[in-house]
Amino acid sequence: MEKAINGIHHITVMAGDPQKNYDFYTKVLGLRLVKKTVNFDAPDVYHLYYGDETGSPGTILTFFPFPNARRGKRGVGEINAIAFSIPTDSLDYWIDRLAGKAIDFDGPVKRFDETYITLLDPDGMKIELVTDKTADNIPGWNNEGVSVEHSIRKFFGATFYLKSGEETEQLLIEHMGFRTGPSTNSIKRLDTGVDKSLVHIDMRIDPEYDWPTNGAGTVHHIAWRTANDDEQLNWRRRLIKAGMNVTEVLDRNYFHSIYYREPGGILFEIATDPPGFLVDEAKEELGANLKLPEWYEPRREQIAGSLMPLVT
Ligand code: ZN
Repeated sequence: MEKAINGIHHITVMAGDPQKNYDFYTKVLGLRLVKKTVNFDAPDVYHLYYGDETGSPGTILTFFPFPNARRGKRGVGEINAIAFSIPTDSLDYWIDRLAGKAIDFDGPVKRFDETYITLLDPDGMKIELVTDKTADNIPGWNNEGVSVEHSIRKFFGATFYLKSGEETEQLLIEHMGFRTGPSTNSIKRLDTGVDKSLVHIDMRIDPEYDWPTNGAGTVHHIAWRTANDDEQLNWRRRLIKAGMNVTEVLDRNYFHSIYYREPGGILFEIATDPPGFLVDEAKEELGANLKLPEWYEPRREQIAGSLMPLVT
């Protein structure tokens, strides 16, 4: 039985215009669109998955882009920033690249052992690029002109905004196997995973934080990794025992999912590594075609017609 969560599987965010979303995550950050599908619960909206070359768990950032969405406001009980790992000597490269594309950013600033630059996506979602020793040992890959040497390797982690971190911390440490990391007055860091799956969750706690408004640029949920269906059922039993209200297993075509809301308000998912994104497209083809789950295939024409055209 898995003793600890093996890092982040994916993070899902609400967005506005799908074309702006695509252009930013591929042409600026150099991620690859690895799957173009629809929201399985509302198929008139895209579900876009970005990641590394093959869509490895631990690199997957997904979006529900509503073309006319109003912008949300980040707040408490939420993920406030998503961090990606870059190699330790890649900071200047990224600063030059962002400047060359006239993208504003903050930093570099130091947090614990790492150096951060922070930027906003087209909907105001906060993205951090973090120099990470772990990234130095992970091979790079090439997309949209980002060199192999400097490409984003994986998630570094995420920042949680919480009114009180106690119950969240207890859940993560006692029931999900997270380890206590370094802390400052305002940040408490928890770690889980190893090597490529190692991630860091920075909890920022302030009872004065405002509640969020859902909308474009806010995180919908974070999904943690598990190795297979049996382990997922083990997690489900453990979490129910810990008092969580956990859903049944849902088939997401590329992984299987369970969901529960942690005590601080953030929606958690546990997703299986298999079957993965190569289940219905070859590596070279990933993201090239609109993929629908079997049960929507009979409605393909109508669904495709309701989606905004996306130039990829
Ligand atoms: Zn998910």
